Amino acid sequence: MRRFNINKALKSLAMITDVVVIGAGPAGTTIGGKIASAGFDVLIVEKADFPGHKKACGGAISRSFFMELGLPKEIIEKESKKIVVHYSTGSVELSSESGFTVFERERFDSFLAQKAEENGARLWTSTIVTDATVKSEGATIHYKKLQREEKGKVRARFVVFAD
Ligand SMILES: Cc1cc2nc3c(=O)[nH]c(=O)nc-3n(C[C@H](O)[C@H](O)[C@H](O)COP(=O)(O)OP(=O)(O)OC[C@H]3O[C@@H](n4cnc5c(N)ncnc54)[C@H](O)[C@@H]3O)c2cc1C
Repeated sequence: MRRFNINKALKSLAMITDVVVIGAGPAGTTIGGKIASAGFDVLIVEKADFPGHKKACGGAISRSFFMELGLPKEIIEKESKKIVVHYSTGSVELSSESGFTVFERERFDSFLAQKAEENGARLWTSTIVTDATVKSEGATIHYKKLQREEKGKVRARFVVFAD
């Protein structure tokens, strides 16, 4: 008689959710939060230890856009009427009537992720998506927990690639 292996059976089970969002950058957390607030079950998967961690970015957006996003003033590092962007072959100076706000991406991305969670999305950090198979009946997302050497899969009706 074949013996039933409970550990093997549990491992083959996949979590089921409505939507998996890959990447907790501004795109992922904004769309993830919006879908969650519409009543869907949303899981956002981020490989970094926390949103915005070690992200190469100048962190400057126009002040009017900053206000439009409803971001808290506490995350502002600096405000300026003009910014200069340097790149390998030159530089360009940008100015704006309303000015620019400059912030650290860690604080910016973490704030947006917190908003998404407040709207009902779940956030998994330190988790890398290693594979995603999308079929008409849904998607299977394979992940690896980076701090625990744990692998698994999630089945979802929809997947958002925001990586
Ligand atoms: C040097 C530099 C300077 C910049 N300066 C500015 C600036 O001053 N102002 C401005 O407005 N824009 C700036 N940008 C552009 C800005 O960074 C991007 O437009 C913005 O980050 C895009 O957001 P996003 O959510 O689409 O992607 P991202 O912010 O790149 O987020 C994607 C997320 O997906 C995660 N991810 C990737 N692969 C996986 C995976 N397999 N599993 C799980 N998670 C994964 C990443 O860790 C990341 O957190 C700059 C970009 C660079 C490179």
